Amino acid sequence: MATRVGIALGANLGQRLTNIRVARDMLRGLVDPESLYLQAPIYQSQPVDCSSDAPDFYNTVIEIDYIGEPYELLQMTQAVEFRLGREAVYEQNAPRVIDVDILYFGSGVISEEILTIPHPRLLERRFVLQPLNDIRPNLVLPGDTVTISEHHRYLDSDEPPLTLVQSIW
Ligand code: ADP
Ligand code: MG
Repeated sequence: MATRVGIALGANLGQRLTNIRVARDMLRGLVDPESLYLQAPIYQSQPVDCSSDAPDFYNTVIEIDYIGEPYELLQMTQAVEFRLGREAVYEQNAPRVIDVDILYFGSGVISEEILTIPHPRLLERRFVLQPLNDIRPNLVLPGDTVTISEHHRYLDSDEPPLTLVQSIW
């Protein structure tokens, strides 16, 4: 049985657009090419909780039809990060060639340190909420009662507005 899965992609080192495209292509390689695939525009955002000289991020969200278990997908997303040359260990929010985060996994709820689903910071971050709102405004996350569109509209965040980089990519 396939599950609708939302994945956030972010990059702020190297060829940011290329990194995001390569990650997207690797993730799409995991799914049935006939299945429904959604992708948001790519936005540029200022780093949150990073040193002030950190380069801006490119961010987007995709949704795929995934057949498998959440931990298998986590292995895949970590393999994508590794293939793109992401350093294995560094502090949170450090600059990275690619960050692949699982936002939601159908109606699944997991509360482990190595895998928390829905992603714990999803609703606080404009750079996730805005692209997710572009593709799934009517989504209600498991355990929630409010749509993504409403979360996005009422988001109370210090982040400056995002800049559109590319709608089609
Ligand atoms: P962040 O994305 O928060 O900046 P990292 O990408 O460095 O941080 O992720 C650190 C750890 O977060 C990973 O080793 C992974 O096991 C864990 N993790 C927990 N929940 C998730 C999730 N939903 N998606 C991706 N990684 C997750
Ligand atoms: Mg991550």
